[in-house]
Amino acid sequence: MSWKESNKTYQILKAAEEGGYGVVAAIAYNIEHIVAFVRAAEAKKSPFIIQFFPWAITATDGLLVRAAAEAARTAKVPIAIHLDHAQDEALIRHAADTLPFDSIMVDMSHYDDAENLSRTRDLVAYCHARHITTEAEPGRIEGGEDGVADTADLVGVMTTEQQVDDFLATGIDFLAPAFGNVHGEYGARGPVLDYDRLDQVRRRVAQRARVVLHGTNDFPEEVMRRCIAGGISKVNVNKLVLDDYLVFQKMQAAGLPLTALVERGIEATQRLVEWQIDVCGSAGKC
Ligand SMILES: [Zn+2]
Repeated sequence: MSWKESNKTYQILKAAEEGGYGVVAAIAYNIEHIVAFVRAAEAKKSPFIIQFFPWAITATDGLLVRAAAEAARTAKVPIAIHLDHAQDEALIRHAADTLPFDSIMVDMSHYDDAENLSRTRDLVAYCHARHITTEAEPGRIEGGEDGVADTADLVGVMTTEQQVDDFLATGIDFLAPAFGNVHGEYGARGPVLDYDRLDQVRRRVAQRARVVLHGTNDFPEEVMRRCIAGGISKVNVNKLVLDDYLVFQKMQAAGLPLTALVERGIEATQRLVEWQIDVCGSAGKC
């Protein structure tokens, strides 16, 4: 048996792909989020992925990641710990060496194509040697306050079949394609996705990797469901599950005792997470 068969992220996403559902992968910024994610996953009998930006490692000397791993270890459902958009090679090696990540997204998109692929290949090997699975994203697209200027702008940066082959050749396990999805804001028009492109990518990937969705801010439920029907198994969310928490903190921070802020912050987060678990169809899957 390959080590990957016992890798938590790999197991969770393989089951999701076979079962035709998506698994919520949400970013945690503090302990309240971690507690809310685990409670929501357990209440829904759903697998889950807790993600961190590299910020969480540097801001807390890795403590937040260790806390999440402990919560995952004792949870009643499968929960994986993932590092999202890691762009610093030294930090990736440090994380792989010293922190309990099940998977790491290697993001070398700040280099040109050839350099991106060769650095990705090296880091994937480094992570795999430590039994950590890896994710990469060809064609990162930035949204903005006003959304994307024009759909035509997106066509040139959508993921091609050649990029799928190139990135899979680096050994990555999870691939996040660009098919109209953007990071940040979509603007008034909302997301305009190219589902044909997603289908093309999915067919090209075949059984070689799982497909990941990035850039889900303000996604309507039907858009999320359509993406999962198109073969997405890992669904990165940030704003969709943290919005209520942020609004609650802004409104109540001046008036409530800290204990109430923490407890009700957890509840506000858990409600949205449970909603997204339902949208992604992973409730009752474990
Ligand atoms: Zn991304």
